[in-house]
Amino acid sequence: MSKNVYQFIDVKRIDPPKKAIEQRKIDFVEIYQPLSTDQSAGQADRCLDCGNPYCEWKCPVHNYIPQWLELVTEGKIFEAADLCHSTNSLPEMCGRVCPQDRLCESACTLNEDFGAVTIGNIEKYITDTAFAQGWKPDLSDVVKTGKRVAVIGAGPAGLACADVLTRHGVDAVVYDKHAQIGGLLTFGIPSFKLEKDVIQTRREIFEGMGIEFRLNTNVGVDISFDELSNEYDAVFLALGTYTDMTGGFEHEGAAGVYNALDFLIGNTQNLMKITENAKPYVNFSGKKVIVLGGGDTAMDCVRTSVRQGATDVTCAYRRDEANMPGSPREVQNAKEEGVNFQFNLQPLDIAVDKNGKACGVKFVKTQLGAADANGRRSPEPIEGSEFIMEADAVVIAFGFLPSPPQWMKDAGVELDSRGRVIAVENSNFALQTSKENIFAGGDMVLGSDLVVTAVDQGRKAALGILDYVLS
Ligand code: FAD
Ligand code: SF4
Repeated sequence: MSKNVYQFIDVKRIDPPKKAIEQRKIDFVEIYQPLSTDQSAGQADRCLDCGNPYCEWKCPVHNYIPQWLELVTEGKIFEAADLCHSTNSLPEMCGRVCPQDRLCESACTLNEDFGAVTIGNIEKYITDTAFAQGWKPDLSDVVKTGKRVAVIGAGPAGLACADVLTRHGVDAVVYDKHAQIGGLLTFGIPSFKLEKDVIQTRREIFEGMGIEFRLNTNVGVDISFDELSNEYDAVFLALGTYTDMTGGFEHEGAAGVYNALDFLIGNTQNLMKITENAKPYVNFSGKKVIVLGGGDTAMDCVRTSVRQGATDVTCAYRRDEANMPGSPREVQNAKEEGVNFQFNLQPLDIAVDKNGKACGVKFVKTQLGAADANGRRSPEPIEGSEFIMEADAVVIAFGFLPSPPQWMKDAGVELDSRGRVIAVENSNFALQTSKENIFAGGDMVLGSDLVVTAVDQGRKAALGILDYVLS
């Protein structure tokens, strides 16, 4: 019997139910409940199977979305998991944390009038279900090449590179300074978006494939880069971006002012009971908190503050809501959890008390002026509108800059004017740097971006490395 292509008219889009709001405000666990098997199959069946699927093009790793949706309607979960993994090394993570409203789902033909197919949640359903039923990648056809590659950084880019190399018979040894794999998946993204046992499951799968992790190893400190470069056939650099952007405020160094990433990492390490080399744990219980910034990191900070028991949490952003860089889904989640949003406020300085401790933020109100090259309207201060908003603690979430270590520069790896490693996808050997045996990818090449774009770069770099080591 042929498929009913008008299914989407009768079956409405559903999003997975969220946990009760009072629970969400105290819990550091994922807020979305899983879709059931019937719900997933019903939602997957809404797909029109467009001849030229825009969702697939908008997905940075070009997942075979209509094909795995069809496998879900047929209940073929292992086949769907195999297909998911043929384009994406971390589908269970991307299903959870991709901003689908800007990527695959925004391009779904049904999006405007009927509600996009719930692609991200079905990707999560496929992988979670397959893992629970014992799915493992089939590497029985892999022929060993005898080549070995060192991957520095166990974030999404490094993991994706190691995955593809292993599937092509190259031994991948992944070094990371942290005690757990995942990079920002583990330590940056809070567990109410991505629970940490999801990463542990992935680690077991990768270790089962033969990927070796050498953790608690800070390259440049515990082992020299030259040693790695000499020992392996090639090296993949995937160190991420870790320099906080500052506001340039006179009192930015005052007690009670925190940078976003240290705050989030310290909180996660505390929850994971990691004490060795841990960031200080800061707890905002009973405090009035202002978070400066309007991106996803700011949303993670406000929502973490709520869960710690802050009495009042405000997100202050210099443009209006429509011009916020953060995902609308995460802004909505923050609002539901009681975060107070103040738009059109430009911070001028941290206000300090007589002991030099932060006691608020001095703002000027703004109005939006002309659009910049990216189409975003720039905030213009309104003269005479300065005021101080009181707070016990201030978190600065203005984004991150590249942080290339000295050993990388000493090795002759060229950087662009913003400190990003120069490595081009469309070159003889994809994502090769200025040194022939060194490749790079993820945030340290793109600048701070997304999990899925880091995965994409890791996979492409692996193909470049294969071409290089086997040439
Ligand atoms: P990273 O994930 O940063 O991994 C780099 C790894 O290199 C780290 O594990 C680090 O320990 C290791 N390393 C660095 N130097 C050394 C060294 N010398 N020796 C050994 N190891 C080293 N993206 C999304 O798609 N969705 C989200 O919801 C989202 N939320 C985010 C929330 C926050 C707070 C932040 C900061 C980012 C978020 N992102 C999100 C962005 C996303 O996490 C990153 O784009 C992605 O993790 C980049 O991957 P990467 O592998 O390039 O680097
Ligand atoms: Fe959508 Fe991200 Fe999955 Fe691609 S990887 S289909 S963009 S959720």
